[in-house]
Amino acid sequence: MANNILVTRSSMPELQEYMDEISSIWDSHWLTNMGPKHKQLQAALCDYMGVENIDLLTNGHMALELTLQALNLQGEVITTPFTFASTTHAIVRNGLTPVFCDIDSETYCIDASKIEKLITDYTCAIMPVHVYGNICNIEEIERIAHKYELKVIYDAAHTFGETYKGKGIGSFGDASCFSFHATKVFNSIEGGAVCFSDKQLGTKLYELKNFGIHGPEEVLAVGANAKMNEFCAAMGLCNLRHAEEEIEKRRKVVERYRKRLGGVDGIQLNCIQKDVKSNYAYFPVVFEEKQFGASRAEVFDKLAENGIGARKYFYPLTNTFECFHNQYDVLKTPVALHISKRVLTLPLYAELAFEDVDRICDIILSCKY
Ligand SMILES: *Cc1c(COP(=O)(O)O)cnc(C)c1O
Repeated sequence: MANNILVTRSSMPELQEYMDEISSIWDSHWLTNMGPKHKQLQAALCDYMGVENIDLLTNGHMALELTLQALNLQGEVITTPFTFASTTHAIVRNGLTPVFCDIDSETYCIDASKIEKLITDYTCAIMPVHVYGNICNIEEIERIAHKYELKVIYDAAHTFGETYKGKGIGSFGDASCFSFHATKVFNSIEGGAVCFSDKQLGTKLYELKNFGIHGPEEVLAVGANAKMNEFCAAMGLCNLRHAEEEIEKRRKVVERYRKRLGGVDGIQLNCIQKDVKSNYAYFPVVFEEKQFGASRAEVFDKLAENGIGARKYFYPLTNTFECFHNQYDVLKTPVALHISKRVLTLPLYAELAFEDVDRICDIILSCKY
């Protein structure tokens, strides 16, 4: 169907721009292992993201997983179940125990006022998620981490290009992990990055992404292979040139949605945060059936009938996944459960036409009665 609208559409440069960018790879024959494109993208991202240090990886998941490994953690990690599988999996795959904290009903991020109650003798870290690009309560998380000597690793996969109080969002906590996956605001096809302050952590990460190799005859850690290759770095360099423009287009799409859906009974739109420069990554809408007059399922089905792909993002909660065999009590995170049953993220990308936004909103509002 010609009129199908997916929830997102990957940003791509003009073909010629990418061809020009990769032509030097044919001269150098350097395809991966921290080549010139990798170095160039790293420097350009430090500048754009307003951070001191960054390391590039194959994807956002390896960024999370290897950061936890590099910090040499053991025990329990306080985190949120209202996230993508990756956050929880990174914790569990490191042999750590996730302890799920409930979320805030406005920002959908971890509810920092509930963290302290979950701290035990085994707690080693907090892994909050800036979900949908909404920023966690950084000050309170920092206070708790300092008081109990805990590491803070932000899953910052949704926050590319954002700032908080004028500072790059990657400059908070011990580390912030970004995803440059095809579906994110900025992509390098597949890709990820870790921003960090401690240079020693950087060295460890650099080695862990290359099998733990320290020198030609020295392997110091059981590492993985998570090096960003030159073609991905080249795509990143091209997309970065257009990032500001893409975010500005997203802003306009979001404004259109807000104009149409703002103030409607039973619809909660995403919060607008003071001191945050947003990247307009997602447009989540929470439907309260009683006030709105239709359930999330009805809206989802109606949109699907019309070829529009909204997503139940994030549903189900990660603490209910089959792979965890009912180990976690979902009733301990009631707000997350409530939101996950009612939220839909609507299509959002730079090229989404206003007419399409209007059509999506018309369909949603037609469900009301
Ligand atoms: C996309 C995403 C990841 C994983 O990133 P990949 O680059 O796909 O590996 C991790 N956490 C969150 C919240 C994400 O949305």
